[in-house]
Amino acid sequence: MLRIDIITLFPQIFSGYLTQSLLAKAIAKGLIEIVVHDLRHWSTDPKHHKIDDRPYGGGPGMLIRVEPVVHCVEEVQQMADRPGLVVLLTPQGEPLRQPRVESMAQTGRILLLCGRYEGFDQRVIDILQPLELSVGDYVLNGGEVAAMIVVDSTVRMIPGVLGDEQSSWDDSFSRGNRLLEFPQYTRPPEFRGHPVPEVLLSGDHGKIAAWRDDQSRQKTLHRRSDLFKPPT
Ligand code: SAM
Repeated sequence: MLRIDIITLFPQIFSGYLTQSLLAKAIAKGLIEIVVHDLRHWSTDPKHHKIDDRPYGGGPGMLIRVEPVVHCVEEVQQMADRPGLVVLLTPQGEPLRQPRVESMAQTGRILLLCGRYEGFDQRVIDILQPLELSVGDYVLNGGEVAAMIVVDSTVRMIPGVLGDEQSSWDDSFSRGNRLLEFPQYTRPPEFRGHPVPEVLLSGDHGKIAAWRDDQSRQKTLHRRSDLFKPPT
């Protein structure tokens, strides 16, 4: 069982996402538990529940204050019998890759901290020492979509979440294949002059495996030759 706590200023963003498809089934089967927390609940401003303030030194935008985040994380950590890995979503973090996804799936518990505005007061990072993760070299409006990417990719790794027919083993970047996946085909065997490669119709599993391996390597070489190098 993997427990994921999501800390956000916009909890409603997750309601549709968590009630659909594989995720809803995994929650219903008790394979994962996802608890969404509204950061405003930990605001030190009882009247307006503000959690942001202007940056010292000037500049545009607002920052999420340190006290609500630290208090929130400390309290949320007490809500289960073991503390979780604290992950802060930020474009400045480690680029999210499949090996990290696989290791997070085995931690048992993760807390995801979603930023907004110009991000967090630096002391959130200094005090909580989170794992800082980025979902790509671009800037989102908030950490919620990034958190969904972490949830979606991690949950796939929990045994029982995918049926056998949807095994992640052969997926691009995955354990059985750190390369890009080979091309796949289904019926019909020919469409608008585009036939399915003959080897896939041959029934010869050895040949099919060799063809797929070769296709996978060629595709990776052309599109992502960096994947052949060990990660830095
Ligand atoms: N001022 C910040 C900077 O330049 O690094 C960007 C803040 S962004 C507008 C607001 C929030 O969106 C961030 O605190 C973070 O939680 C989230 N976010 C934006 N881009 C992201 C990315 N590529 N990966 C992960 N989280 C991201």
